[in-house]
Amino acid sequence: MKQYLKHDPWLIVEEDFHRNYNEITESVMSLGNGRMGQRGNFEEHFSGKTLQGNYIAGVYYPDKTRVGWWKNGYPDYFAKVLNAANWIGIDITIEYETLDLNTCEVRDFRRVLNMREGYLERSFVAVLKSGKELQVNTKRFCSIVDDEAGAIRYSLTPLNFDAKITVEPYIDGNIRNRDSNYDETFWDEVRKETAYGEGYIELRTRKTGFHVCSGMCVEIEQDGVRIDFQSQPIRREKYVANRMTLDCQQGQETVIYKYAVNLSSLNHDPDFMVGEAHKSIQRITRKGFDRMLLDQQQAWADKWKTNDITIEGDAAAQQGIRFCIFQLNQTYTGEDERLNIGPKGFTGEKYGGSTYWDTEAYCLPFYLSTADQKVSRNLLRYRYKHLEKAIENARKLGFKAGAALYPMVTMNGEECHNEWEITFEEIHRNGAIAYAIYDYIRYTGDENYLVEYGLEVLIAISRFWSQRVNWSEAKQQYVMLGVTGPNEYENNVNNNWYTNYLATWTLRYTVEAVGRVKELNHDKFNELCDRIHFREEKEIATARHIIDHMYFPYDETRQVFLQQESFLDKELMTVNEIPKGQRPLNQHWSWDRILRSCFIKQADVLQGIYFFEDDFDENTIRRNFDFYEPMTVHESSLSPCVHSVLASKLGMKDKAYEMYLRTARLDLDDYNNDTEDGCHITSMAGSWLAVVKGFGGMRIRNDQVVLNPYCPDNWESLAFKIRFRGALLEVKVTQTDVTVQNFSGKPVEILLFNETVSVAPNSKSRIEKTAEVD
Ligand code: BGC
Repeated sequence: MKQYLKHDPWLIVEEDFHRNYNEITESVMSLGNGRMGQRGNFEEHFSGKTLQGNYIAGVYYPDKTRVGWWKNGYPDYFAKVLNAANWIGIDITIEYETLDLNTCEVRDFRRVLNMREGYLERSFVAVLKSGKELQVNTKRFCSIVDDEAGAIRYSLTPLNFDAKITVEPYIDGNIRNRDSNYDETFWDEVRKETAYGEGYIELRTRKTGFHVCSGMCVEIEQDGVRIDFQSQPIRREKYVANRMTLDCQQGQETVIYKYAVNLSSLNHDPDFMVGEAHKSIQRITRKGFDRMLLDQQQAWADKWKTNDITIEGDAAAQQGIRFCIFQLNQTYTGEDERLNIGPKGFTGEKYGGSTYWDTEAYCLPFYLSTADQKVSRNLLRYRYKHLEKAIENARKLGFKAGAALYPMVTMNGEECHNEWEITFEEIHRNGAIAYAIYDYIRYTGDENYLVEYGLEVLIAISRFWSQRVNWSEAKQQYVMLGVTGPNEYENNVNNNWYTNYLATWTLRYTVEAVGRVKELNHDKFNELCDRIHFREEKEIATARHIIDHMYFPYDETRQVFLQQESFLDKELMTVNEIPKGQRPLNQHWSWDRILRSCFIKQADVLQGIYFFEDDFDENTIRRNFDFYEPMTVHESSLSPCVHSVLASKLGMKDKAYEMYLRTARLDLDDYNNDTEDGCHITSMAGSWLAVVKGFGGMRIRNDQVVLNPYCPDNWESLAFKIRFRGALLEVKVTQTDVTVQNFSGKPVEILLFNETVSVAPNSKSRIEKTAEVD
């Protein structure tokens, strides 16, 4: 754990340059706008530890996989969102000395991510080897208004010298992915152009043939006045720049404005891209940096109006949740149903920027409550559009009759993960996709989705489960062999409780959904049956038989569900018994030792209890929590949030708070020693869950918002906003009362502490908390 970033409600602040943590800070200070994202790199040359990263949504490369022992059924590639041309670069040379924070003395360094207004700022004094002192102030953002554009204000003031300073703003396409399996280059140059203060490069990805055109335009001001400058165009392989040499006087501020765009062939015809990039560049340059920044501030203010969570009395907790909300909004806007949410968003390369079960299990509830309904519908539609490929994927593995196995990791619907214990066995992801349909309809009431798309997906997933289980003569029950549950510190187990439960639940929900769609639209149902050859009677009878005869491992003595068969053969220990300095286990222990230990990477049985909490009484939940939590090392970012929600439900306030800090500040404090690879974007939605479902006790039951909120002991207040069926509500909880504000024009009835409360349009209801409630 590292605690070098300052606590502040709206800012992430690095004071003094933490050179050794630079890649962590770069991840944390990433900017994005759903269409593109940029790590918190320096504009000027930096020879120290850095991962230069600019990523364009949906632009990927099918990197050839590296596996020693090929298994039939493996995919040939692992898709990777590509590190694209560097558009932020501005090299600075002061009379033959390159400005490089790795080689000069750095004073008064501050790097600040402003979450309220959506920009990154940096200031420092560089003391060069020659003794020259240069003050530098920078500000940049990825515009959320013009989502193909970014802008930089880079200011230089010589403090103790007059000199000619050479400035070289550039676009550089000589970029490789650090995670490239064979150290290949993924981009080819298509064309480049330069003009006065401008430069354009169009690159094409190998194999996938995506085109991206990056363009820039530079303006310069001295003493607050725009100046003309002589610029020398530079054109090299995949590189364009404008070099200018400026007379800079002691105490005089020179400001370089760099406007940039990244256009991709997802949205533009490659034949016209350079021309369109030119037009966009002209447009944003005319708008100017200050105006663009004002638009940015306004757009972020609007987002915060519906998204913010305020915590009074605990700066670390406040900063943590805002950071999560900020990064989620930077990663996915939901406007484009071809896009999804990679576990690292645009902040790094790990996980290839692909889609995981994280989207359905963790992110969907965040977008359901904070964004327009079409955003979560788009997330569901993304999987619907991949259904054919999921059926194909299952067919390759030997499944029949329209069974679908959604991929563990995907960019376009095809599986691209190949570790057999995950690709073939971590099949619970299929259940999360079914669960998301249920979650979406429960929240929005949009049953039309079930009719149009949902049922078809459910049937295909249920067909998979019906074939994946087998009848055990010995047990006289159905079993599911050879699986990996969410806890990846166990592989190839039999009867993982969570997977068996999720499979059974999916079958049950599918049976219900068949009935419901028949009621809602019989014609559509018949049409679907014909199209996918659904033999209703037979398939439903099979599903019912499995539902009634599924085996669930259980320990009668402890009265807990067993994570998998034989779990109790392990030497049961608690995390406290792990010798100091050996965590995270995955960075200290052999895989063999991890697999044989009882230690749990992330919620597994508890993940199931979290999803289906209404199926279990409180004592059952408590017994399972008390049994599993002490063995859980939370080495998946997705783990602490689930534990926090359950701990809140069980009234274990200290545990809930501890787990909340761990999830919300996971990257800010680098808990798992891996933030340099990128931030854990999908688990940030889990942090939101820890607040809203955990402390807020928010659920949707019977078409109604249900709240059982409390305020952690060391907080003065907690306030969160949720959208629900056309209304925007704010729930504010203090130690003594709860206020629910209805910002909509219609009354909203909620269930608060089991009492129905009606909140009139555009007004508030305040309820005092009673002792029993606490
Ligand atoms: C977790 C998975 C998760 C993936 C991406 C892994 O470490 O075990 O559950 O889907 O990370 O976040």
